[in-house]
Amino acid sequence: MLFRSFAITKLTVYELKTRIVQRKLDMLKRIALLSLTFLFLAPVQQDNPVGPELYRIVQGIEGLHDAERLSYIKKELNKLNVIYRVAKFDTTIRQGGESKQISGENIVVRVGRGGTGKHVVVGAHSDAVPNSPGANDNGGGVAVLIGLIKTAKQQQWNFTIDFCFFDREEDGLIGSAVFVRNSRDKERHLAMINLDVEGTGEEVYVGPVGKGDDNFIMPLVREAARQTGFAFEERSVYPPSDYQPFAREGLENISISIVPKGDADKITDLLRGTQPTKESFPEVLKVMHTERDSAVYVTPSALAMSHEFTKTVLMLLNESQKVE
Ligand SMILES: [Zn+2]
Repeated sequence: MLFRSFAITKLTVYELKTRIVQRKLDMLKRIALLSLTFLFLAPVQQDNPVGPELYRIVQGIEGLHDAERLSYIKKELNKLNVIYRVAKFDTTIRQGGESKQISGENIVVRVGRGGTGKHVVVGAHSDAVPNSPGANDNGGGVAVLIGLIKTAKQQQWNFTIDFCFFDREEDGLIGSAVFVRNSRDKERHLAMINLDVEGTGEEVYVGPVGKGDDNFIMPLVREAARQTGFAFEERSVYPPSDYQPFAREGLENISISIVPKGDADKITDLLRGTQPTKESFPEVLKVMHTERDSAVYVTPSALAMSHEFTKTVLMLLNESQKVE
């Protein structure tokens, strides 16, 4: 310490001034470097502002009860200034030999006038199982659907798109079944895209493939995988979800999820009846339907991935239906 202060006293005024100028120059260099770094990073951030926006919606909906979830969705749609239709239903289902009364409401936003007169449905269920915050299942799907409505209303479409928030999926795909039953335009149906579980992971998992009700949409989904360059897994099996009432009527459909790497195989094995071990149990299912399904396990990047992928499929669908 003493040695150092002795050295400084030996410095001439000229040397001190030179050092101060040098320091100022160093600081300017640092500022210039930081600005350059920011310039290079900025386009990446600007490219994907959608992830954080969708994540905010997941945080807003998680933990809400079903009626509150519906109110929350309506509030978000009002912010977007879009007109929505509320289709309430009250239906009886048979479960385990007993009749059960189920009521709920589907919220539908129609976008595009559609020169071809064809209809596309993009659906995500709004409800959650009791005692689960329902962030990934299916707050993520709801968020992506809201994001897609925002994007779609700025485009020209050669068909109409019904963005549907289906209610009571967890009670046996009720809302989507009611929607299909009440749809009078089955001959105009072009495709249904189901979004269920979109918030965790880095791979696009698509299915069920090869059942004959996906012949038209699958080539476009594969092209979307090529264009986006996302890790892509298509499988012949897919867990039960809102695509099933469409499939039962032979209506073209596909489901898109975002899952952690390796889960597409694990889910396939599970659906084929393989007894799972702790290691082979799908990561996504460990959290889904539990009290742990909170936004903590959801990432903005997974939501952005689902949004980008589904948007690309919709654009390709639009190109395929050009009105000459
Ligand atoms: Zn679900």
